[in-house]
Amino acid sequence: MPIYEFRCRQCKKVFEVLFFSISEKREVLCPDCSSDQVEKLMSVFGGTFGGASSSECSSCSSTSCST
Ligand SMILES: [Zn+2]
Repeated sequence: MPIYEFRCRQCKKVFEVLFFSISEKREVLCPDCSSDQVEKLMSVFGGTFGGASSSECSSCSSTSCST
């Protein structure tokens, strides 16, 4: 199941939403302020996606980070 990352334009919170299918369309609300002014950032799939060559470090978001 795909997980999409969203950012709220109101409070800038970044949060992930799990969809049950790639084609699923539903309204996404900010979990903090309940605003619907959210933008999709990127899609993240569970497990490795397309090999491990471009996985980003979870702490610094760098693709060249060795940790
Ligand atoms: Zn918000």
